[in-house]
Amino acid sequence: MSELDLLARGGVVGGGGAGFPLWKKLAAPAEQLLINGAECEPLLKSDQYLMRRYPAQLIEAASRLAAIVSAREAVICLKDHYAPQIAALSEVLKQRTFTPPVRLHLLPTVYPIGDEQALLHSATGKTVPPGALPGSVGCTVVSVSTALNALRALNGKPVTARFVTVAGEVRRPGVYRAPIGMPVQELLEKAGGATIPRYRLVLGGPMMGPLADEKDPGVVTKTLGGVLVLPAEHVLVNHAMLSMEQARVRARSACIQCRTCTDLCPRHLLGHPIYPHLTMRAFAAGNRLEPSAMLCMECGICELYACPMGLNPRRVQQMHKAELRAKGERPAFELKEAPALAEYHQAPSGRVLARIHAAQYDIPVPDEAVEVTTEVVRIPMKQHIGAPAEPCVTAGSTVRRGDVIGRMADGALGADIHASVCGTVEQAGNGWVVIRADRTAGA
Ligand code: SF4
Ligand code: SF4
Repeated sequence: MSELDLLARGGVVGGGGAGFPLWKKLAAPAEQLLINGAECEPLLKSDQYLMRRYPAQLIEAASRLAAIVSAREAVICLKDHYAPQIAALSEVLKQRTFTPPVRLHLLPTVYPIGDEQALLHSATGKTVPPGALPGSVGCTVVSVSTALNALRALNGKPVTARFVTVAGEVRRPGVYRAPIGMPVQELLEKAGGATIPRYRLVLGGPMMGPLADEKDPGVVTKTLGGVLVLPAEHVLVNHAMLSMEQARVRARSACIQCRTCTDLCPRHLLGHPIYPHLTMRAFAAGNRLEPSAMLCMECGICELYACPMGLNPRRVQQMHKAELRAKGERPAFELKEAPALAEYHQAPSGRVLARIHAAQYDIPVPDEAVEVTTEVVRIPMKQHIGAPAEPCVTAGSTVRRGDVIGRMADGALGADIHASVCGTVEQAGNGWVVIRADRTAGA
């Protein structure tokens, strides 16, 4: 089996965001392979834990993935204040040589330096043109957890678990290793439960993670990096709950067109022609869609950090982007010169954390992740961009951890899905496979 087949059959997809299948990403050659170790969402600690705990494996993964895309080098990019991680990785690099070679690049501690285009610019000096992908400038970007999953898959071990940071108003915040398909509510209980009676869960980091459904917060998936417990009246919850009509009334009455949202937009700072203040103007007037909203990567800087009036330019960008997509619009954009003083307009991570009223939830990187188990896993067949996997087991089947339970269709964009526990299949169909764990079955 080729290495790309091993990655597809091992179910490796991007660990953050939409879950892009890694085999597809690595199918194109690149000059440099970048490992994204920024973990730029405030409060999340899983990647920092993994870099410190598994430095040799991460470096080996970086070099092997670089070889797959025929890159001349792999660059592990991490923030300049991640001292223990830098020390652990440097020690391995001192002791061993790798082909292709691996080196470290230290990123400034600003948000969102983990945006792959901001990271790529910092590490290589290149700028990805607006609307394009890193491959257009000869780079491939892979996250820490994805790279480690890839190394396991290349050695025949599929993705069955996920390291998840649980933080906020929870009794035992930390990094948890949870089986794919574990209910999020149960994970929260394993972390000691919420410390307050009225809370909302955020799935992911505080800047970009969506609010979980109150009745069914969902399950641990390959792309779930964090679970945050926030007071029901927290500013982030209020932003997410605002209706678009309320946002429009506020935009009409309070947007002073100061353009701070544009001036601090990280993509604008790269020279992309994106102008959230213009989207706000068009939204308030309700008379047109702003094409540059297509370039928004939804980092939240404009809304949660920049706007002096507490308005919602990110929500408005999301809305305009969705409507433009629904109309099938594909505007073309040209890269411009980066604004003067762009490097001084970046948002320090500590300031961002304070601005979103979440500094009190920041925890140190734990020494060890907590392994958690569950009785029943509910595993979605779609945890990635592309076509869902098709269940290949039926109710009553006995499975072992790592067995394939969902197959990617031949030639489709996707990845296989695997049993995350040993046990008996209770249901298979409608996009899910439910397995009851058999505690006597072992690993
Ligand atoms: S920063 Fe706020 S007030 Fe200023 S233009 Fe943007 S949305 Fe309007
Ligand atoms: S969310 Fe705001 S700051 Fe972030 S890319 Fe979109 S417009 Fe720019």
